[in-house]
Amino acid sequence: MASHCRATNRAGAPCSAAHFRGGWCRWHDPTLADERRVFSVKGGKARSNHARAMKVLPRDVLDVERVRGIVGQTIRGVMKGDIEPGVGNCLANLLRVALAAAETSLLADLDKRLADLESIADARKVSA
Ligand SMILES: [Zn+2]
Repeated sequence: MASHCRATNRAGAPCSAAHFRGGWCRWHDPTLADERRVFSVKGGKARSNHARAMKVLPRDVLDVERVRGIVGQTIRGVMKGDIEPGVGNCLANLLRVALAAAETSLLADLDKRLADLESIADARKVSA
């Protein structure tokens, strides 16, 4: 499964949005064309919001440092008026999910390390 969308933007560069299904992101998935039309009729802002959001988002996994960087960029962008507050809110929600995922991954890692240490300690008890 691809991690990124297979579409290209108007400049010919690969779409940087995350893969949704069938090799497409939510903005390029052909089966969502009708929804997108409805979306763009509602103020015609979906495309520009997507482009603004994509400028802020990096392509790969978000670690805590990257999340901090994006939060900073987003705050500055909203305050300067380059990023609409709604896009800022959306990013804030997604970044909370990214942080929760990073935390879950860290806890799983700590859990494994603890289990390893416990098995080492148990092995020493048996031999002592
Ligand atoms: Zn795409």
